[in-house]
Amino acid sequence: YTGKEPEEVMTSRLRNILVRDVQSLPILITQDTSIYEAIVKMFLEDVGTLYAIDEKRQLVGVVSRKDLLKGTMGKSDIEKTPVSIIMTRKPHITTCYPNDLLMYAANQLIDKQIDSLPVVELKDGIEVVTGRITKTNITRVFVNLME
Ligand code: ADP
Repeated sequence: YTGKEPEEVMTSRLRNILVRDVQSLPILITQDTSIYEAIVKMFLEDVGTLYAIDEKRQLVGVVSRKDLLKGTMGKSDIEKTPVSIIMTRKPHITTCYPNDLLMYAANQLIDKQIDSLPVVELKDGIEVVTGRITKTNITRVFVNLME
């Protein structure tokens, strides 16, 4: 018996959860993917954000639902226009590491007003995308702890 109140047990558990414990798989595209293809992919994979990577699997961009909506406005031909035109690029991308605390990632989502964070790892000197933390991941943790 730890002598702790149930609430304390829960908050201390929550504080110790790492990004790697709850991260999900990233859905990846390249930056030459057309806006049309990206929309199809987003529906098929049932995600709200796609990550654009280069040939070394390095992160180069984030494509959200609103980015794609913006891309469909105006006169552009969405089958020919690449997502590189609309995506958020480095160095404006907020990322996290597998060993970061989930609370850190959650705070980033709130601070930056975004829905997901790419999880990156250093491999052979370059940062490659290996996962994704979303509001859904975090809500699931919350529900699991309550049950
Ligand atoms: P939506 O646009 O579908 O509401 P978000 O709130 O996640 O989804 O995205 C809002 C804006 O922030 C978009 O322009 C998107 O490219 C950008 N964005 C999303 N995730 C990140 C991130 N991890 N780092 C930086 N910018 C991001």
